[in-house]
Amino acid sequence: MVFRRITHAARSVGVSQAALAYARKREQFGQPIAKFQAIKFKLARVATEVETARTMMWRAAWLFDQGYCMREAAMAKLFASEVAQRVTWEAVQIHGGYGYITEFAVERFWRDARLMTITEGTTEIQLTIIARELGV
Ligand SMILES: Cc1cc2nc3c(=O)[nH]c(=O)nc-3n(C[C@H](O)[C@H](O)[C@H](O)COP(=O)(O)OP(=O)(O)OC[C@H]3O[C@@H](n4cnc5c(N)ncnc54)[C@H](O)[C@@H]3O)c2cc1C
Repeated sequence: MVFRRITHAARSVGVSQAALAYARKREQFGQPIAKFQAIKFKLARVATEVETARTMMWRAAWLFDQGYCMREAAMAKLFASEVAQRVTWEAVQIHGGYGYITEFAVERFWRDARLMTITEGTTEIQLTIIARELGV
């Protein structure tokens, strides 16, 4: 179960990375939409969050190999799955109407990211575990 929380964090990082890469390629008005400053800032922010999620996931995996990572695995799963919500939400927004339709992969990323907050312990269950590990 703890191991699966870490793999879900990894899946969340993967879907975030895919959505980010996809959003960077989107072209509109004859140029990559990422060239607009407002979009650049969105991408910079979510890219930072993806790196943080990846680092948390790696640390939880390393601690798993050492023996105990209950709190860190729950934190990594919670954070990475919530980052995936934000990244895929922005990716859909950057694609406009194309982001919503099933012909484009970005819609699938959005739906897959949503699942990451539900399976292997919902967001609320991760919060319950973290609070218990904090002794509150
Ligand atoms: C595509 C898909 C694949 C799945 N694959 C598997 C699988 O391979 N193996 C498997 O075992 N299961 C699988 N599941 C089931 C999945 O693990 C459950 O849907 C998940 O654990 C949530 O349980 P639930 O749906 O019964 O929601 P519920 O437990 O009914 O929860 C509903 C809501 O109440 C909240 N809640 C529940 N209890 C508390 C509490 N104590 N405190 C605060 N909030 C609470 C939850 O966080 C959630 O928001 C899959 C589900 C889906 C959608």
